[in-house]
Amino acid sequence: MFDIYSGPVFDMARQQFKQASDILNIPFDQRDRLLYPKRAIAVTCPIHKDDGSTVVYEGYRVQHHLSLGPSKGGVRFAKNVDLGEVAALSLWMSWKCALMNLPYGGAKGGIRVDPYTLSARELEALSRRFMQELIPFVGPHVDVMAPDIGTNEQVMAWFMDTYSNDAGRTVTEIVTGKPVSCGGTVGRREATGRGVTHLIYRAAEVINLDLSKSSAVVQGFGNVGSVVAGELYAMGVKILAVSDHTAAYHDSKGLNIPDIINYVSKHGVLKGYSTQSLTDPKTILTIKCDVLVPAAVERVINEVIANKIDCKILAEAANGPTTIEADAVFAQRPDIFIIPDVLCNSGGVTVSYFEWVQDLQQLFWEESEVIDRMKKIMDKGFYNTINSAKELKVTNRMAAICAGLKRIYMSRKARGLFP
Ligand code: GLU
Repeated sequence: MFDIYSGPVFDMARQQFKQASDILNIPFDQRDRLLYPKRAIAVTCPIHKDDGSTVVYEGYRVQHHLSLGPSKGGVRFAKNVDLGEVAALSLWMSWKCALMNLPYGGAKGGIRVDPYTLSARELEALSRRFMQELIPFVGPHVDVMAPDIGTNEQVMAWFMDTYSNDAGRTVTEIVTGKPVSCGGTVGRREATGRGVTHLIYRAAEVINLDLSKSSAVVQGFGNVGSVVAGELYAMGVKILAVSDHTAAYHDSKGLNIPDIINYVSKHGVLKGYSTQSLTDPKTILTIKCDVLVPAAVERVINEVIANKIDCKILAEAANGPTTIEADAVFAQRPDIFIIPDVLCNSGGVTVSYFEWVQDLQQLFWEESEVIDRMKKIMDKGFYNTINSAKELKVTNRMAAICAGLKRIYMSRKARGLFP
């Protein structure tokens, strides 16, 4: 059924869904409705390149469900984007939003493009064309986009401007993750990384780990990984290694993270920062440390790596970093406390929710209010997850997914099937 949703990432989400549905005893006839997206839109995005030629890019937006409110989720610009991956990410967004009690269904979008090969003008043209193609299918109460891999505040500003030009008025609430200068919220850029760090702090309390005497490894140094590394460093954690898609650095004495953040803010990537601490990016996840933070892409931790990982807390800042096979290994490794992705990186969408609320009300908050409210919501999600993991005798991941899935199921059940 639904062969259009295929590939390893969707298969992974499908298997997680099956495990969670079995735990919750969801009737079989209700399952397809909870698994498959409400709708998926494929668009072709032609743009003029700087050399005068025309190139067409494929784009997708998958709206997983709209039962709890508008669908919500990021848009990624990446080389390997396909419909199955975007659909899986939309499903994870649904569980994430429901777990955090946000009034949203999940969505995700993407364009199959390497954004680093585009000029600034080409990137603007592509961003605007993508939103233009999707205008009939989105809206502040239908589907609200946000940044993800390969997109940023600037791309969100172009999305918002394109939608607003069509509407004939400024509609800031159509996307989140915008610059503060045009309706964004303070604290959104740092939100995902801050949320991850907050939950690492909570996990450390649970396992009695003194973070100021601990070490960490961060894989991925984009908007999320760099903030986590910076915040952990400020808390006194020794950051042994960091990496991105261009380079990896390892120093057992600890890396100078403020220096690296400064370098990346100027050069965009880690490459070229140092020759002394260079290491093989493939080995970074298996370096012995207290806190391991995968903050890059899906499926980087397979069965072999899961067996070799030597950490106390695994904080999944990325979406879907751990394969099903790796998860089976972790289920036999009580030595590792896992903060599963749908919980761990939910600070981003939580503060996106705050941005949307502020835009709808045209009433803006102080950064301290944003941070305090985010931590409160994340704490609720965290304790809900670890308590129900104990009660149900399941992993933290299954407890988090089940909490999200159950909320969606209950609301669907109460609303009934139309017509
Ligand atoms: N792309 C982010 C995520 O995967 C943020 C989504 C949002 O803010 O809507 O959670």
